[in-house]
Amino acid sequence: MTESVVKGGAEGRWYDARAMAQALVLNATYEPLSVVPTRRAVVLLVREKAEVVHTDGRRWASEHTSVPVPSVIRLLHYVKVPFERRVPLSRRAVFGRDHGSCQYCGRAAENLDHVLPRSRGGAHTWENVVAACRSCNARKGDHTPEEVGLRLVSAPQAPRHHGWLLIGLASPPHPSWRAYLEDTG
Ligand SMILES: [Zn+2]
Repeated sequence: MTESVVKGGAEGRWYDARAMAQALVLNATYEPLSVVPTRRAVVLLVREKAEVVHTDGRRWASEHTSVPVPSVIRLLHYVKVPFERRVPLSRRAVFGRDHGSCQYCGRAAENLDHVLPRSRGGAHTWENVVAACRSCNARKGDHTPEEVGLRLVSAPQAPRHHGWLLIGLASPPHPSWRAYLEDTG
């Protein structure tokens, strides 16, 4: 394999524009954790906080060290994912989770619906927000689903699918990430 060398300066500056990409970070358990600039992934390698899982063959070199330019790295120590790291609740994310269909009747959704209405103390959380069609949303109003004879197709949950990490990602995911981002259930 031919390796081209990407030169880094003494302060770890990054010179190769092609390398201004992103790397997938896996937890020690191989679960996808986040996406970081490749530069940040290189720092984790240099500091021996992570190991290379996949590289495109190039190397990053500074005065003192040289590491592969990674597209996937794995942290050497397990990181417990805090609550705050959950996927932010947004209309786009909820519609994505609910496949754009009304969670009461299955038709095309147009609104976000609070299962327990906000006026009744319902929270704005993944567990209480669903996609709904205009008709079901209007029918519910300030009622609970039971009060107006509606039933959720399933209990709403915060997304666990790893692919959710990619929401808002500017560029397409690197092909080497695919194996780690597929739904593991
Ligand atoms: Zn509906």
